[in-house]
Amino acid sequence: MKKIGIVILGILLSCSLFGCAKKEEIPQVKIVDDNYRNVYEIFVASFADSDGDHIGDINGVISKLDYIQRMGYTAIWFMPIHPSPSYHKYDVTDYYDIDKSYGTLEDFDRLIEEAHKRNIHIIIDLVLNHTSSNHPWFVKAKQAFRNGTDSEYLDWYNFTTEAKSGYTRITDGKYYEARFVDTMPDLNLDNQEVRDEITKICQFWIDHGVDGFRLDAVTSYYTGDNAANTAFLSWINRMIKGIKEDAYIVGEAWTDDNTIGGYYTSGVDSFFHFSMAQADGTICRALKGSTPATTLKNALENALKLANGHIPAMFLDNHDVNRITGGIGRNELKKLKFAYGMLSLFNGCTYTYYGTEIGMVGSGRDENKRIAMLWNSDKMDELCDNPKNTSTAEYVYPGVEQQDADEDSLLNYHKLMNFYRNRHPEIARGEMTFYPSLQTAKQLVVKKTWNEKSVIIIVNLDGENRASVNISEFEETYPKIDAAMVNVTDEINVKDGVMDLPPYAIAILYAE
Ligand code: CA
Repeated sequence: MKKIGIVILGILLSCSLFGCAKKEEIPQVKIVDDNYRNVYEIFVASFADSDGDHIGDINGVISKLDYIQRMGYTAIWFMPIHPSPSYHKYDVTDYYDIDKSYGTLEDFDRLIEEAHKRNIHIIIDLVLNHTSSNHPWFVKAKQAFRNGTDSEYLDWYNFTTEAKSGYTRITDGKYYEARFVDTMPDLNLDNQEVRDEITKICQFWIDHGVDGFRLDAVTSYYTGDNAANTAFLSWINRMIKGIKEDAYIVGEAWTDDNTIGGYYTSGVDSFFHFSMAQADGTICRALKGSTPATTLKNALENALKLANGHIPAMFLDNHDVNRITGGIGRNELKKLKFAYGMLSLFNGCTYTYYGTEIGMVGSGRDENKRIAMLWNSDKMDELCDNPKNTSTAEYVYPGVEQQDADEDSLLNYHKLMNFYRNRHPEIARGEMTFYPSLQTAKQLVVKKTWNEKSVIIIVNLDGENRASVNISEFEETYPKIDAAMVNVTDEINVKDGVMDLPPYAIAILYAE
């Protein structure tokens, strides 16, 4: 066994070299052109407004692409952008256009062009389980069913003469399937004409340059029938890959790991790993437990096992759940940073909900989780309007402008971890080797190997105490270290082959 490269022996690795994230210190790196990405989720209405009506829009997003790139995100997932009567837009009235309040198709084309210039992929939400009850298809179908007349759209939805759970009454003896709410009638996905239309929709957006789709509510396609859902997902996957071979698809199956494992057999690239997310999820349990290294090790392995050769989709929060800042604790900045640090160590894609990188809070009703992005705490009058029925909108941490200037901010920690994922593609793609002899209850060492290169990741999961790890035993030499610390003044020391890490520190050892 070779000794660790002499280059770092005795060198004091201070924050000023590795741990901080001053914006001029983070260079752009070449992004691997595949679907393992740091994804940023955007609710357009609350993100950035370009024309002064205080409704976020596509041009507003374009104006923030430099920010998104600088933060190290390499893809954007847009919540629905199609015309829709609701604020959330998960009830679509036209799958071939952009909601007027968001802009135009031309704006969207420009967004795609500008995003691609920055190596940012665009993924759009595709709501196939249901349309809006205002969609012309449903308006015509419902009218025909009610009047007993014919319509080409009659078989596009699921009508019945019996009152059943999950169905909405039109008149006595006439009902339609609407699993979520009466304004969202479920499509009849067995109808070949509906499938042909879905194919046209995907073709349309791929022609406009999108790189992939996020499939909404896949467990509701055929409610209660996982086999039918998986079969339909297989069809979608084949259909989309038939149009664009390297398209990326991520499904929202809000369910347990076992069921998600079954869905992965459809060939769909990713499913969100819900068990890892939120304050009661696996990543946060690693923050709280007495053997966090074991929890994290098992989680790293299980994510890969679950995805079974596909791309795990890891996240801490999203638009449907309480924001993670409140879940971990508003005054727990170090834990908040470290939770994202741990997330960033997983294979696959990481998903960051807009505002999570600045510690925005939001819980209770959905509108509260979708409030205005805080760009500048000193310019509150420039923010987007919050969704109409927001009951609480407050900010615990300062805005982007302020956090950008603070090297110890949550934003700069996120930026640094994203940068490391981009600089070291092994982190998102690598085969893992653990070092049980170096592992304790609160320290973890894992090697990730991809494309004949390796990095060694050393994590101190102790929030109070420093960790000492013997790094002289690795087979290869790793003369360089990237480090992320939750305290900007913390230091990692290496002396005589022993690395001394501050609480909640992550060190990435690499060779070039
Ligand atoms: Ca606007």
